[in-house]
Amino acid sequence: KLYNQVQESKGNIRVFCRCRPLSKAEVAARHKTIVDFDAAKDGDLGILSGGSTRKTFKFDRVYTPKDDQVDVFADASPMVISVLDGYNVCIFAYGQTGTGKTFTMEGTEQNRGVNYRTLEELFKISKERSETFTYSISVSVLEVYNEQIRDLLQASPSSKKLEIKQATEGFHHVPGIVEAKVENTREVWNVLQAGSSARAVGSNNVNEHSSRSHCMLCIMVKAKNLMNGECTKSKLWLVDLAGSERLAKTDVQGDRLKEAQNINRSLSALGDVISALANKSGHIPYRNSKLTHLLQDSLGGDSKTLMFVQISPSEQDLSETLSSLNFATRVR
Ligand code: ADP
Ligand code: MG
Repeated sequence: KLYNQVQESKGNIRVFCRCRPLSKAEVAARHKTIVDFDAAKDGDLGILSGGSTRKTFKFDRVYTPKDDQVDVFADASPMVISVLDGYNVCIFAYGQTGTGKTFTMEGTEQNRGVNYRTLEELFKISKERSETFTYSISVSVLEVYNEQIRDLLQASPSSKKLEIKQATEGFHHVPGIVEAKVENTREVWNVLQAGSSARAVGSNNVNEHSSRSHCMLCIMVKAKNLMNGECTKSKLWLVDLAGSERLAKTDVQGDRLKEAQNINRSLSALGDVISALANKSGHIPYRNSKLTHLLQDSLGGDSKTLMFVQISPSEQDLSETLSSLNFATRVR
């Protein structure tokens, strides 16, 4: 209904903006809120950027701190379902560390996010369609850190570098990665947990590490139409991106510098690809980062892309908030 209207007028890229609540600590420290949600229902977001200056940004959806995981998934689900119809789909969360990217994608056990709800929905719909289709669903969980791919489902990682290859039918894939077949939501939760805990291995600070790497869940769907025997294969990427914040000037050396450059490079590459697609540019620079190269099948063509721009409501985060909103405006 509304979804279709939005989609027809906008092509295949849609942008949702989600603002987290002020944290307890921010409330205690009396941080001011700079976000104005008066016209959030129309997709308008206001930012009070000092004095009487008010900037407005337009999105397909705006979620206030009061909107919950169910509200968010309700809008994302039509896109998720289209993977069962043979479309490639990519959903990712962009923003400064601490703005709720992981909350939106992964969520918590009590407040499950897009990743879990997506698989739950895919099982539900595939059951409803079981008289006409059979579906086989598998999941891979990867991490991209410093332009290197790590398989988070591989129990004993080999030292061999994981590379992206293009199969004859055009599909991009990473030979050797685990594709875990999942048949119900319990199995899904186990796989997601396994991926999540593997991120911690080899890093002394889990949160810091995960904010500097991209966590990428790939759901592969094989569908067989029982009426005509036709088979389709499609892919849904769910990505929790590395934090988009700029590094403090004092921090710019050694490993941190390399990390920051790699994050910067891959996030700009993502912005470049999406804006090239939006502008119907002839050359789409997928190869400029591992991130965009991995996502290639699910960005552009007739695939569907959804970006969550995550922001903080606090005055203290104004400049990062504006930078995230500007990134989002560029791709929209
Ligand atoms: P990021 O992954 O962007 O670094 P997190 O998802 O870890 O951010 O969120 C930071 C903190 O804010 C977490 O404690 C998370 O539970 C909380 N949070 C984020 N978004 C929301 C929300 N919409 N509602 C309630 N709490 C949230
Ligand atoms: Mg996170």
